[in-house]
Amino acid sequence: EQSHRDILITGGAGFIGSHVIRHLVNHYPNYRITNIDCLTYAGNLENLKDVEFFDNYQFLKGDISDKTLLSDLFEEHNFDAVIHLAAESHVDRSIKDASDFLRTNIAGTVNLLDACKHSWGKDLKKKRFYHISTDEVYGSIASGKFNENSPYNPNSPYAASKAASDHFVRAYGTTYGLPILISNCSNNYGPYQFPEKLIPLCINNILKQEPIPVYGRGENIRDWLYVEDHVNAIDLVFHKGKPGETYCIGGKNEWRNIDVVSELCDLLDSLQDREKGTSRKLIDFVSDRPGHDLRYAIDSKKISSQLGWKPHTPFRKGLKETVQWYLDHSDWLANITSGSYKRYYEAMYSGR
Ligand code: NAD
Repeated sequence: EQSHRDILITGGAGFIGSHVIRHLVNHYPNYRITNIDCLTYAGNLENLKDVEFFDNYQFLKGDISDKTLLSDLFEEHNFDAVIHLAAESHVDRSIKDASDFLRTNIAGTVNLLDACKHSWGKDLKKKRFYHISTDEVYGSIASGKFNENSPYNPNSPYAASKAASDHFVRAYGTTYGLPILISNCSNNYGPYQFPEKLIPLCINNILKQEPIPVYGRGENIRDWLYVEDHVNAIDLVFHKGKPGETYCIGGKNEWRNIDVVSELCDLLDSLQDREKGTSRKLIDFVSDRPGHDLRYAIDSKKISSQLGWKPHTPFRKGLKETVQWYLDHSDWLANITSGSYKRYYEAMYSGR
């Protein structure tokens, strides 16, 4: 079913957004995809080099916190749908300073909702507003799993900002009848992920044989999902999801951080012909992140049974592909880790 033709993607120059765009422009040639992204430190047009000249794709540099820009954009276009991924996405940055999280994640989301509400009026049947969100809104769980009915209990400023934006999206559905969709997904990994996140940070430091900072004793448990599996879920929710509904997405793939890091050390040692165990010596336990959630776990029964989704990429295979991608894209990694990222990283981990 290809009813939504003119689609606005926000945050398409980031990690997940660039995979979503690559998927849509290749699989749905009759869609017109507009990507709006203000290119923060995390937005990178190199992520979209292979699709930038596609006829069905265009990029606009713009900030979703700019209301005027959004209303002009919605006047020029006749969007059928929005897939909203633009966000400040890194927990550590939100702990240092939450202001950009408020501006983009909360105010930016409300601006987008308002733009849709004004531009779409009452003709809503085929419209969709799809918010891509995180399982971190549910907080930490010692055993069992969260699902769509679990209460929100965000613990980091990042999670609180995503929880607020989820609530606004749902409220616009209830109050104005906007056909909204939300999905809450666990940790993604894969190519093009910014190296402040655990897996690419590890890969980058192992490649440079530099210390690998690991919070606490690395006991925190995360569920990991290969980004392509998330993109397939997004495609399904977008095309087949029921307006007003939330879908939880997870990989049934829980790992302690220390085990993920050790796995990456061993993988890179073998790929780069180092003696096994060499890189594990780089592991450097640093004082824990304040309010660090011990465990996230999410139940994807609903999206599996109602929309037929399941993850296809076994973790070790996905890790191997990811590591190989970073090995093959050393220029991308070098560009992205110079300049402001370098300063951020030094400020975060100095005085270790
Ligand atoms: P990312 O940080 O890699 O990319 C975010 C993108 O948004 C960047 O391109 C950035 O330039 C853009 N952006 C930021 N502020 C903007 C603004 N004011 N106006 C326009 N563009 C702006 O993030 P990601 O990891 O790709 O995550 C995308 C979405 O998915 C986020 O909403 C995040 O909360 C959610 N999510 C991420 C994960 C994960 O593991 N990475 C898991 C679940 C949900």
